[in-house]
Parts: sequence; structure tokens; C-alpha cells
Amino acid sequence: MQLKMAMVYIAIVIGVLAALNYYPVSVSEEFVFQSKQDALSARAELYSSTMSGVDELTPETAAHVMSLLDAEETRVLVTDHRMRVLYDSTQGQSLVGSLALLGETRAALEGNDYFYAENSGDAITSVASCPIMIGGVPAGAVCVYDTDMSRAALIADLRRNFRGVSVVVLVIGVGICVIISRIFGRKISELLETMRTVRDGDYACRAEERGDDEFTYLAKELNALSGHFEAVENMRRRFVSDASHELKTPLASIKLLADSMVQSDDVPADTMREFAMDIAEETERLDRLAERMLDITRIDAGVADPAETVDLTAAVERAGRMLEPLAAQQRIRIELELEDGCDIFASEDYAYRVVFNLIENAIKYNRPEGEVRVYLYDKDGEVTLIIQDTGIGIPAEDVSRVFERFYRVDKARSRAEGGSGLGLSIVYDAVRRYGGNITVESEQDVGTRFTVVFPSLKRREGAEK
Ligand code: ADP
Repeated sequence: MQLKMAMVYIAIVIGVLAALNYYPVSVSEEFVFQSKQDALSARAELYSSTMSGVDELTPETAAHVMSLLDAEETRVLVTDHRMRVLYDSTQGQSLVGSLALLGETRAALEGNDYFYAENSGDAITSVASCPIMIGGVPAGAVCVYDTDMSRAALIADLRRNFRGVSVVVLVIGVGICVIISRIFGRKISELLETMRTVRDGDYACRAEERGDDEFTYLAKELNALSGHFEAVENMRRRFVSDASHELKTPLASIKLLADSMVQSDDVPADTMREFAMDIAEETERLDRLAERMLDITRIDAGVADPAETVDLTAAVERAGRMLEPLAAQQRIRIELELEDGCDIFASEDYAYRVVFNLIENAIKYNRPEGEVRVYLYDKDGEVTLIIQDTGIGIPAEDVSRVFERFYRVDKARSRAEGGSGLGLSIVYDAVRRYGGNITVESEQDVGTRFTVVFPSLKRREGAEK
């Protein structure tokens, strides 16, 4: 990738430089050629029109006419209609009498004006020719030649300067390309390295977030992703270790009880029955625990029951009825203040479990002869469920942790009540899964209030209409 990027950059630089080298020089050359054409053609025109005034084209008449005109320093050839040279302005090596079988004479004798120029590098040579018309037919040709060394030198200079600048620009450009592609390449390699490390399970690995470019955003996103993985992994580890711990306690009790039953020979039948009942109780606890762990995995995996219309009022009434005997044991009063027809969109089973768990906790962590108040109403597009007790309350430092898995404020009390520390975390996950929210306020020795808010079905229906 590094190499590819560098090659692309260098190709672009070379392309731009080639264009820069070619266009200005060729435009200047073109400009010089044009000015030559204007000057030479005008002169050829002048000579031929003057020459066409003679009766007959001979070396003498041609020389005479040319002597009248000011034939500057350029070479002028005059030929007759057979291309024989009648006049040559060059002194010393005159071509008079010889044949000038040249492109320019041929073109002029065919009745056309002609111009040609070329730049050899050392000199710009150009020629313009015109027919000499006598009696309406081409009787001869005038050719005007020019050799311009100073302008050729100027153009050569221009070309050299552009080449020099191009070489410098190319060297700098290539240098910059190499540096930039190295920097990019290094950043990409660093990100790749971090990705591989994270993929291999080291979720604590982070990419460096330097600067403020796309690579920084990429590094930030990658870090957020690995942070998320790390949190999930920590949660998974904690869950497994907490779960094993929770399973160990009842299993240890069962083993202890079973050992005592096996090892003691003369245990009275009553004690044996007690042991067996204890084993049954511990097994029940294990069963409950397994059930709750399954619930959690189901919600985590998103395979909780699909949502449907649930009458929360009915669910609260049912849970209240079911828990009445438990409350009665502690002489706790359950007061329900429910608005009719509070419908939400959730799973019937989970909605019931949310309500049941919260009322059960309000009874379990209450004081004898205490009170549980449940309010339910549908207002401002939200169904609000409040469960308030006059119980032991939750210490301020624990309030924010009660929704954590296996978290229990008072382990002994929770165990005595048959709790697993998973109830509230299931409640929390279920509420969030169906678009709701749950909060808790508590004062130690005064009571606790859980508030659950679900989007009202009335609002949903209103929005769909
Ligand atoms: P558990 O199975 O132990 O009841 P939960 O997840 O339902 O587990 O509750 C977690 C902890 O939060 C409980 O162990 C308890 O300490 C505390 N808690 C829950 N509800 C109440 C409440 N209404 N009043 C006081 N403490 C509560």
C-alpha cells in the first residue's frame, strides 16, 4: 500500500512536470513561428508583387527589381517557372543558374503561398514562398529564408530552466511522497497491530490517538470498540465466577448433608428427615438459580419472548394476589392504586416477572407490619409503575449497584430470603429490552421506591395513526 501510494503520487508529479515542460516551451515556439510567418510571408508577398510588374523574368530583371527593394539580411531566391534560380541574395555562394528543386519553389509554382519553420535547437530556420504571377499564371517563385539563432537560444534557455526546476521539484516531490507514504503506512501498521492484539484477546490494548485526522478518528473508534469488548469480557468473567460461587454454596451444603447422612449410623429418623428436607431446600435454591441464569442468557441473547400488547394493570393485580400470602406472613399490607387499562408493548411473561420481582423484594426487604404501595398510571405518553415500601432501605453507596448481577447488599438476608442477587438485574434487562427505564430511590430504615417507565401503547397507537 505504501509503495502503491508513493507510485501514484510520483506518477502525478511526473505528469504535472511533463506538462509544465512541454506547454510553455511549445507555446513560445509556436509564437515565434507565427511572428516569423507574418514577417517572411509579408516580404515574399512584397517581392513577388513587385516582380510581377516585369515583362519577362530573367536574371537581370530579377536582380534589377531586387536592387530597388531593400532586401534586408535574409536570403532571397527568385526562380523562373522551371525552378531555375534567377536571383540569389547570398554573396559568394550564389545558386544563380542552378535548379532549386525545393518544396517551397514547387509549392509557389503551383500557385500557393507556403511557409515552413523548424527549430533545430541552435537555430530557428524558416522559409516563406510566393508565386510571381505574370499574365495570370505563375511565372516564377520568390523564396525568403531566415535563420534566427538568438530566439532559438532563448527557447533553449527556457527549456533548460524548466528542466532544472522540474528536476528540483521532482526530487522534493519524491521526497515528500516517500515521507507522507511512510507516515501513513506507519499509522496504518500501528492500527493493524492494535486490531490484531485485540483480536487475539488482549482487550485492554489501545491505539494511540495522536493528532486530529481520519487516523485519529479510526483509532478512537477502534479504542471504543476494544473498550466495549473489554467491558463485555469483564462482565462475562465476573458472571462466570459469581455464578460458580453461587452454585458452590448450595452444592457444598448438599454434600455436607449427604455425607452426614451416609457416615452416621445411628441417626434418628427425624434428623434424617430434616437433613433430607434441607437437601431438598438447597436443590430448590439451585433450581431457582439455574432458572434465573437461563433468563439472563435468554435476554442477553435477544431471544426473550416477542413483544405484544400487555395489560400491565392486570399483571400488577395478579402479582399482588400471588404475593398476598408472603406479605401476610410478615403482616405486611399491600396497597394497589392502579389506573385501568395501562397497556404497554412487551412480553407478557417478562412484564409479569418485572412486577412480581419488585413487589416480592418490597415484601422481602420490608419490616414486619410494614407496607407496600404500588401505583400505576398512564400519563404524558408513559406508563409509570411505582413500587414503594417501608423497608430496610438500601445504603446510599449500594443504590447504584443493585441492578448488577449477583449484587446483594446483605448477603445473609438475601440468602435467608432465598434470593440469588439476579432478580433486579433480570428486571433491569427486561425493562430496557422493551424500551423502558427503571430508577431507584432509597433511604435506609425508611424505605425504597422503584420507578419503572414504559412507553405507553396509547402513544404508540397515536403515532401509528
Ligand atoms: P435478591 O435475589 O438477593 O433479592 P435482587 O437482584 O432482587 O436479588 O436484589 C439485589 C439486592 O438489592 C438485594 O439483595 C437487596 O439487598 C437489595 N434490594 C432489592 N430490593 C430491595 C428493597 N425493596 N429494599 C431494600 N433492598 C432491596
